[in-house]
Amino acid sequence: MQPTQTNFENHWMPFTNNRAFRETPQMFARAEGVHYFTPEGNDVLDGSSGLFCTPAGHGRREIADAVHAQLMTLDYTPHFQRAAPVSFELATRLSQILPEGLDRVFFASSGSEAVDSAMKICLSYHRAKGEGQRNRFVSRNWGYHGVNLGGTSLAGMVNNRREFAGVTCDVVHMRHTWREDQRYTPGQPETGADLADDLEEICRNYGAETIAGVFVEPIAGSIGTIVPPKGYLERLRAIADKYGLLLIFDEVITGFGRTGSAFAAEEFAVTPDLMTMAKALTNGAVPMSAVATSAAIQETVFAAAGDTDRPELFHGYTYSAHPVACAAALAALDIYQGEKLFERSRALSPVFLDLIFGLRNLAQVTDLRGYGMMAGIQLKPAETPGLKGSQVQRALFDAGLHVKATGDALIVAPAFVSSQSELEQMADILRRVLGRTELH
Ligand code: PMP
Repeated sequence: MQPTQTNFENHWMPFTNNRAFRETPQMFARAEGVHYFTPEGNDVLDGSSGLFCTPAGHGRREIADAVHAQLMTLDYTPHFQRAAPVSFELATRLSQILPEGLDRVFFASSGSEAVDSAMKICLSYHRAKGEGQRNRFVSRNWGYHGVNLGGTSLAGMVNNRREFAGVTCDVVHMRHTWREDQRYTPGQPETGADLADDLEEICRNYGAETIAGVFVEPIAGSIGTIVPPKGYLERLRAIADKYGLLLIFDEVITGFGRTGSAFAAEEFAVTPDLMTMAKALTNGAVPMSAVATSAAIQETVFAAAGDTDRPELFHGYTYSAHPVACAAALAALDIYQGEKLFERSRALSPVFLDLIFGLRNLAQVTDLRGYGMMAGIQLKPAETPGLKGSQVQRALFDAGLHVKATGDALIVAPAFVSSQSELEQMADILRRVLGRTELH
C-alpha cells in the first residue's frame, strides 16, 4: 500500500541536519524549466540550477528520450575489457569542446570519483616516469573536491576533513584567494596573483620532488564563488611547470558554460594537465563525471605497462561510462550546442551580475562576488557559523526561491535558459529576504 505521508526515518540524508529536516522538511516534488514545485504545489524558482547541474533547465524531453532509447537498446555494459560505441562517441564529442590538448577522457559517476581518479592518474604518471616518490598533493584552503578519501584529503573546508584525519592522504594547503580589498568586486580582482607563490614556498619547504600535483577550482565554487585574481592561475601554471608538478583544474562547477566559455580553463586561458567535470555534463539528469587529460600523460602511463596484458591503470568503476549516462551527456551536449547555451551564458552574465551587485547595502549582505553565471553573497554571520546561511536558505525557500547556502554564503547560479524576468524575480526575492534585519 502507498504511504499517504512521507516517513522521514529511513533515508539518512547527506550533508543535512536530518533531525531538523524532519521537523521542517523542504521538499520538491516536480521540476520544469527553472521552476521547482513543492508537494503542496508551491512554485519555487531555481536560483542554483539545482546544485549547479541544470544549465539547460529541468525536464528536458530530449534527454529523457535519449535515456529511454538507450535503456531499451543497451541498458548496461561493464567497461572492463568491454565497451559500447556510445562511450567513444561521447569522449570524441567532449574532446571537441575541451581545451586544446586535453582530449583523453576517463569516465566516472560523480565529481568525487573524478577527483580521486585524477589523483590516481597523477600518481600513476609520476610512477611511470620513475618519480614514484611524488605522492603528496597541494590544494587550497576553502577548496572543495568532493568527499571520497582523496577529495576529503584535498578539502580546504575543515568540517569536511577533521573527523576523517586518520585516513586522509598527504596534502598541503595554499591560502585561499579572498582578500579584504576585494569586497564587492565583480569579475576578477586586480590584485592577489602573488598568492600563487604559496605553491613555490610549499615546493621549497616540502621538496618539489615529493609533490605529484596541485588541485584548484579555477573559481572556488562551493565556498560561495571566489574568483581568481588576474594572473593567479597563470602563475600557478608557471610554478607547476618549473617544479614538474601536474596542475589539475576541478571544473565540476565551472565546466559547461558557467563562465561563458565551455570551461574556465579556456575562459582564463590557462590549460591544466588534467581537468575534472561532472554535474552539467548530463545537465544533472544522470550521474556522470569525467577526467580529461593529455595524450602525453596517457601515453606515459600506457608505456609503463609495456607489452603485458595488464590494464595500464588499476582503477575504474562498475558504472564508468555507463551507456545511459553517455546517452544523457550526448543529448545535453546537443542542447548546449544547438541552443548556443554557452554563448547565452556569456550574454546573460552582465544582466545577472548587475542584479546581484544591486543587492549591496542590504541588512544581511557583507560581500558580493561573481563571474559569468555564478555569484556569491556573503551574509552577516550569526553567533554560530553557518546558522545564518541555513536560516536564509530556509527563508528564501519559503519566499519561493531555491538557492544553495554554504556556510554563511549563498551561491547563486541560475540556468542559462532563465529569462531576464525570471532573473529579476530571483533578485526581487533575494532583496526582500536579505533586506530583513531579523531572520529566524
Ligand atoms: N569538485 C567540485 C569543485 C565540486 O563542486 C563538487 C560538488 N559540489 C565535487 C567535486 C564533488 O562532486 P560530487 O558531489 O558529484 O561527488
